[in-house]
Amino acid sequence: MTAIGSLVFCTDCGNLLDGASGDKKVRLNCEVCGTNNRDTSSTIITTKSKPSAFPSALRSKRSAVQTLTEEDTRTTATIRQACPECGKQEVRYYTQQLRSADEGTTVFYNCDQCGNKWQSNN
Ligand SMILES: [Zn+2]
Ligand SMILES: [Zn+2]
Repeated sequence: MTAIGSLVFCTDCGNLLDGASGDKKVRLNCEVCGTNNRDTSSTIITTKSKPSAFPSALRSKRSAVQTLTEEDTRTTATIRQACPECGKQEVRYYTQQLRSADEGTTVFYNCDQCGNKWQSNN
């Protein structure tokens, strides 16, 4: 049994076990090999706010599954272009690369004044 922070690993195959609660009466079954493990997660005092306590392999695994939000993949700016709805002369816009590079970049426009949104493909 190896416990790192609140994570408990299977003694037999090293699989990460779910449901670590710190309760010694709780037995954790390994989904991979079926080994019955004791929950020792409470014996090591670390908090989740200290990512340095995790092995680097686990850290990179965590960041690998992180998905980019829409905010991460775009930048907004203003452009001097008339809103077709209200005629405002300056609107916000951002570009977003679509999945395939040869589909080009889509430009999204957003009017602050009337809330109108539209887009055009380059
Ligand atoms: Zn196992
Ligand atoms: Zn507008």
